[in-house]
Amino acid sequence: MSSKKVPFFNYSWVYTQYQDEVLAKMKDVMKKGAFILQSELKQFEKNLAEFLNVKYAYGVADGTNALIIALQAAGIGKGDEVIVPSHTYIASAASIHLVGAKVVPVECGADHMLDLASAAKAVTKNTKAIMPVQLNGRTCDMNKVKQLADMHNLMIIEDAAQALGSRFEGQHAGTFGKAGTYSFYPAKVLGCFGDGGGVVTNDDEMGEKLAILRDHGRNGNGEVISWGTNSRLDNLQAAVLDIKLKYFKQDISRRRELAAIYNKELTVVSEVALPPAPDTNPVHFDIYQNYEIVADRRDDLKKMLADNGIGSLVQFGGKAVHQHKELGFDSVSLPYTEELYRKFLMLPMNTSLSDDDVQYVCSKVKEFYGAL
Ligand SMILES: *Cc1c(COP(=O)(O)O)cnc(C)c1O
Repeated sequence: MSSKKVPFFNYSWVYTQYQDEVLAKMKDVMKKGAFILQSELKQFEKNLAEFLNVKYAYGVADGTNALIIALQAAGIGKGDEVIVPSHTYIASAASIHLVGAKVVPVECGADHMLDLASAAKAVTKNTKAIMPVQLNGRTCDMNKVKQLADMHNLMIIEDAAQALGSRFEGQHAGTFGKAGTYSFYPAKVLGCFGDGGGVVTNDDEMGEKLAILRDHGRNGNGEVISWGTNSRLDNLQAAVLDIKLKYFKQDISRRRELAAIYNKELTVVSEVALPPAPDTNPVHFDIYQNYEIVADRRDDLKKMLADNGIGSLVQFGGKAVHQHKELGFDSVSLPYTEELYRKFLMLPMNTSLSDDDVQYVCSKVKEFYGAL
């Protein structure tokens, strides 16, 4: 048996990848005593806005708070319903619940993204917004999402926590709707050394509200002009992220190379459905936050991979939002999502991996299905 190990994710790599440059910058920031709402945060927000080609970008506490603030700024609350794919992190749904609105979970499609037909059926007179989740580093067909939203006069609040840098028809995930959000959790494509998040908008009124909401309801003069909260990205994390953002395009290219290897090696395995290879469809630019496959005999495959030193993960603890028993979705049945959840599996996908690592994972997957 081989002693090779390919962990699912290498958390210390988040630090070691750009270690020297990051450490020097951190020392500088700490010596200055620049901890909250300082120039490094402003600089990062400016660079993030430029990267995304969006008018307003704010660093906030984390991806979950980014969603909460975005929904609040959009005026969504009690009595409102928000449609969200059930195949998402609990945080997407929690943010809707926590602003007082009703969570309406719907199906995902074969591409793992929001299913538009299911979303269309879920619209009621109380539906105020739709929350497409740009999952695994891919962006939904936003023309179709917009069509549905326009037809029923819904706001679009995008959860792009997993999709910084992903594009649809050249436009960045997170920039299509009323507001869009990102997560800088360490395992996300742009990861910091703790919790962190971002929220963006092109809408002037939203831009102003978001800035105020994330800093205790205070305007630029320090006057409290509404209720708000404390949701500020640490200046130190912003400094780290600003360095990583410089290299982000290279990181994305590397992920796309790894995805291409997976695709080339695993297309022969008929028992496994793969994410689309990079550039299969010119309207989608995928950044491969995750490499989520749909696999027959998933649990056995996962065990065999583990026995061979390979980490894999079933996303979101193996449960769609509506499958969490304690959260009150007893009457919700989403058979397609439930079927996929018996087969979803994520293979290692991050910039610490070598080509050989991915080849090794592929050889074990093929061996499992007798495709070698
Ligand atoms: C990570 C994630 C979030 C939440 O981000 P945090 O920074 O961990 O709060 C929200 N939605 C999705 C789809 C995510 O993957």
